[in-house]
Amino acid sequence: MKVILAENSGFCFGVKKAIDTAFNEVEAKNEHKLYTLGPLIHNPQVVEELKQKGIDVIEDLEEVHSGNVIIRSHGVPEKIYREAEEKGIILTDSTCPFVSRIQKIVKEYYDKGYQIAIIGDPNHPEVIGINGWCNDDGVILQKTENIEKLKEDKPTCVVVQTTMSLVLYEEFIELIKHKISDLQIFNTICLATRKRQDAARKLSKEVDAMIVIGGYHSSNTQKLVTICKEEKPNDTFHIETVDEIDFEILKKYETIGITAGASTPHKVVNEVLEKIKNLL
Ligand code: SF4
Repeated sequence: MKVILAENSGFCFGVKKAIDTAFNEVEAKNEHKLYTLGPLIHNPQVVEELKQKGIDVIEDLEEVHSGNVIIRSHGVPEKIYREAEEKGIILTDSTCPFVSRIQKIVKEYYDKGYQIAIIGDPNHPEVIGINGWCNDDGVILQKTENIEKLKEDKPTCVVVQTTMSLVLYEEFIELIKHKISDLQIFNTICLATRKRQDAARKLSKEVDAMIVIGGYHSSNTQKLVTICKEEKPNDTFHIETVDEIDFEILKKYETIGITAGASTPHKVVNEVLEKIKNLL
């Protein structure tokens, strides 16, 4: 059996920055209690490790009256900054710069009077955060039929969730172009995401089976699973930890490809690689 790791996989720049920030805050030993607003990343093992180090997860600023709240890479609505200031809560901002860029675009064009279209999942924290920079007035496009909600006669600014698949994005843009003429389109899909998706697609064509490692609630991991399943519908396995590998099933394959979501620590990827190699 041959095991091949995808060229681009695992922690992306934005997630690494958020994790490093959190651990640096722990080491700094400031007197303020540390929190993250929502789980720092979509990886339960890392969230548990942070908890052991004294960083608790809160879902709402209302839950605390003081302390240092770390904003995760997904970013937050603009009003969170105001609320924190009013309450005297310290914010440590780990919003990924690629997400900050989308927030700035949305705010700029909203202030100019544009209709804001956000291609993405309305329940994803990144999209909720982006929408919070245009007063929650954005039109969220998750399915192509949602385009009906866009006003044809308004100048429109289009942005896209960083983890969206390029193919889906292009499909949306074609449809929007048919409906609205005054458009400012920003392809804000993150390069890290695109590289991971391209590498996963390429590798899944070359192997007998694919293992995708990453949190079950991680959007970018789920997209990798979808991409791998396009090539290997019955031979793609999504796992969160090494313990979930079924070695009896894997034995029948000659080549296995491995990829990992942007919030999957290298440690977990290495554990999986090691364990499969020990099987050989
Ligand atoms: S996937 Fe891209 S946008 Fe999201 S945190 Fe990573 S680098 Fe930033």
